Amino acid sequence: MCKYCLECEWQISTSEGYSEKEVSEKAIEHFVETGHTVDSLRLPPPAAIIEN
Ligand SMILES: [Zn+2]
Repeated sequence: MCKYCLECEWQISTSEGYSEKEVSEKAIEHFVETGHTVDSLRLPPPAAIIEN
């Protein structure tokens, strides 16, 4: 899972070693601290990539 800010360069991802819970918490923290809108990006399920 990856979460990113729509209003600045902020982003966080489970690929950086965070758990999904931590990613969610950090995203909420960023929203609370800045009031920025944080959106999440989910990688497509593996089946979608294997297909074809
Ligand atoms: Zn931001």
